[in-house]
Amino acid sequence: MKSTTRVAVIGGGVVGCSVLYHLTKLGWSDVMLLERSELTSGSTWHAAGGFHTLNGDTNMAALQGYTIRLYKELEEITGMSCGLHHVGGVTLADNQDRFDMLLAERAKHRFMGLETEIVGPDEIKKIAPITNTDGILGALYDPLDGHLDPSGTTHAYAKAARLGGASIETHCMVQETNQRPDGSWDVVTDKGTIHAEHVVNAGGLWAREVGAMAGIYFPLHPMEHQYIVTDNIPEIEAIIDGGGEHPHVMDPAGESYLRQEGRGLCIGFYEQPCKPWAVDGTPWEFGHELLPDDFDKITGSVEFAYERFPVLARAGVKSVIHGPFTFAPDGNPLVGPVPGMRNYWSACGVMAGFSQGGGVGLMLAQWMIEGEPERDVFAMDVARFGDWISPGYTRPKVIENYQKRFSVSYPNEELPAARPNRTTPMYDIFSDLGAVWGQQYGLEVANYFAQGDEPGYETPSFRRSDAFAATGREVRAVRERVGINEVHNFGKYRVSGEGARAWLDRIMAGRIPQPGRLSLTPMLSPSGKLIGDFTVSCLNEREFRLTASYGAQAFHMRWFLQHQVDGVSIENISDTCNGFQIAGPLARDLLAACSRADVSSLRFLDVRPMVIGMTDCIVQRVSYTGDLGYEIYCDPMAQRQLWLTLWNAGQDHGITPFGMRAMMSLRLDRFFGSWMAEFSPDYTAAETGLDRFISFGKDVDFIGRPAAETEKQNGPARRLSAFEVEADDADVQGYEPIWLDGAVVGFCTSGGYSHYAEKSIAQGFLPSDRIAPGLEVEIEILGQMRKARVLDRPLFDPDGTRMRG
Ligand SMILES: Cc1cc2nc3c(=O)[nH]c(=O)nc-3n(C[C@H](O)[C@H](O)[C@H](O)COP(=O)(O)OP(=O)(O)OC[C@H]3O[C@@H](n4cnc5c(N)ncnc54)[C@H](O)[C@@H]3O)c2cc1C
Repeated sequence: MKSTTRVAVIGGGVVGCSVLYHLTKLGWSDVMLLERSELTSGSTWHAAGGFHTLNGDTNMAALQGYTIRLYKELEEITGMSCGLHHVGGVTLADNQDRFDMLLAERAKHRFMGLETEIVGPDEIKKIAPITNTDGILGALYDPLDGHLDPSGTTHAYAKAARLGGASIETHCMVQETNQRPDGSWDVVTDKGTIHAEHVVNAGGLWAREVGAMAGIYFPLHPMEHQYIVTDNIPEIEAIIDGGGEHPHVMDPAGESYLRQEGRGLCIGFYEQPCKPWAVDGTPWEFGHELLPDDFDKITGSVEFAYERFPVLARAGVKSVIHGPFTFAPDGNPLVGPVPGMRNYWSACGVMAGFSQGGGVGLMLAQWMIEGEPERDVFAMDVARFGDWISPGYTRPKVIENYQKRFSVSYPNEELPAARPNRTTPMYDIFSDLGAVWGQQYGLEVANYFAQGDEPGYETPSFRRSDAFAATGREVRAVRERVGINEVHNFGKYRVSGEGARAWLDRIMAGRIPQPGRLSLTPMLSPSGKLIGDFTVSCLNEREFRLTASYGAQAFHMRWFLQHQVDGVSIENISDTCNGFQIAGPLARDLLAACSRADVSSLRFLDVRPMVIGMTDCIVQRVSYTGDLGYEIYCDPMAQRQLWLTLWNAGQDHGITPFGMRAMMSLRLDRFFGSWMAEFSPDYTAAETGLDRFISFGKDVDFIGRPAAETEKQNGPARRLSAFEVEADDADVQGYEPIWLDGAVVGFCTSGGYSHYAEKSIAQGFLPSDRIAPGLEVEIEILGQMRKARVLDRPLFDPDGTRMRG
């Protein structure tokens, strides 16, 4: 066994083997995999081997497409069979909401180049003849769906990796991972110690235990899962004898997936009475055994399946496979550099190893070798959860995710499990004011404040929801008087010390402001991708504050700490600095009524310490609503007092609390972008218009500068535009295709209803050479073509007189 290696991958399931292969594919051959038993000794060996592209996250869907296409390549490289069956598959819809979801998915697939199609009941019957289509509205057909041999595929990855120079040690149990001061690792195994530059945790069912060896908690949990293989079925035998194969059928209403297995069928369930497994840790001695059959928990699902697929009722059971596999709280993998650690990488929480394993391996290998993955992978980034997460939170969330695996997922849906978790001192006060809560990054955030007969629960919908009227009322209150909300869901950072300005100048592409001022700036990756849009305020030459997306805290802190230098201290103060934002034409009057400071001299983009009532605050004159507005930051211990001051004084100004629904409508009036919609690592500053905040004049080699300069010279191929949409009862949510002259030429990033302008608004990318003011396009919303027109002037305060005045 080697005693040194560049990378030690722990775990020889399908994911570890894929990571190993992709490292060699991208050029690192001094890599090894350590497996405590034989390859496939965790979840992998008992998987049903199904694969599909469908995923609510567009980038995850694209990576699933990559994984599926990779199998042919593996077969060619290794000469081994993955046991591929590209039989295609249908996902059924038995109600309008489910059908809407499929229509939205199909629309996304158009610009992703996936050849899915919507089919009606008659076609379903032809494609999957054993299906009882009573009550079915339609289905999404995906020709890429299929299944494979899990063991053969894992061994094909392993052989391809070996051909690329990797070594694999089986029967080699990792017992400790100890970091040296230089950041490299001693990986202690029962066969000796290996000195590795990097460690990858691909421990699957044991990823929690492997993580604990390095003091890391990975938010994942194993769930029991069961599928049944039937005896031969005459109807299936007839299809086979006719030279065919029965396709996959996903029946979300019955929480089942079904496919041909031999001359019979195999059907698995995501049952509601599901069970978490190994709550206090996965036993090391587990591996090659199955869990005892448990028919009680799937009785209801089986009865439903007999209705949908009547041939099953007549079929005998050949075998039952019941085993555990792991989930993260949102069901997506946990991939990437572990925040706060050096050279420790995660490749775990992969619940669909045969749909996602290839994409996980590719992204991780790019990250390790090239410094960043080629696309935005936040949906599976291990940094999408903060250090507030605990096993007590993870378990109910994982159960919820398992139960909702086949549920309709709505764009405005707020999932209830493990809530409320994190709350600010305003929680009960806002609840008394009618707050209808959502959650972001574990934090309760008011979506709107229900008044009178407005609903205290927002019904999830693909169309305009029943929070529409309340949202409109709050928007008008901001535009006509003054609105108030918390600033708790902003990510906030304090950057201080001798070297603070120089460090910020290098890490941020924009201008770093002078004392008492603030500026907006993009943060770029080396390849020029957007990895943050920040507000930077300078309190004095040694102390700066940054604000950005709350959900990106671990993502941003990871980047900051990776680039930290002597003389700079960086502190995440997101939860230790709170306060309010007030916005609207009366915001200045309200602030003046609460302070003896000279509020009128506070110009747009000024920042100043100020006493409000009896509370020491830092006040920034800026507002995401695009209106005259202020962000007022204070110690959370003083937040209730500050509230009383503002709220009581605000009664004379018609003060109205507003929530995130109103905020997202208000920002549309000025075409302001939002993190992870308009601004994400999928896009560059020039594509999104954020290049106007890049300071090409500063004499600093800021990160991403060469890429940004090249793009400045050549111009981006696509640009963000705003559209007015002739929508009816459903607005753009994101990723809807944009059609021009009968072809898909772009896609939407986000949209919604401007209650101020009373218009449906969208933002999205078009080829730069096609954009022109007033250009007419069509946007496909829930399967319907909607006329849309490019807008070139903001709907509210186009000259900025109110915002700056
Ligand atoms: C019943 C069932 C059906 C499924 N059906 C499908 C399906 O149809 N399609 C699909 O895509 N997915 C399916 N899955 C999920 C799939 O099995 C997993 O997504 C996949 O196997 C995860 O692979 P992994 O490599 O991450 O983990 P694992 O397969 O658990 O591999 C982890 C490996 O790490 C090794 N290891 C752990 N700790 C150590 C250590 N300390 N030292 C050395 N080695 C260590 C283990 O021995 C093991 O081999 C199914 C799962 C189940 C249970």
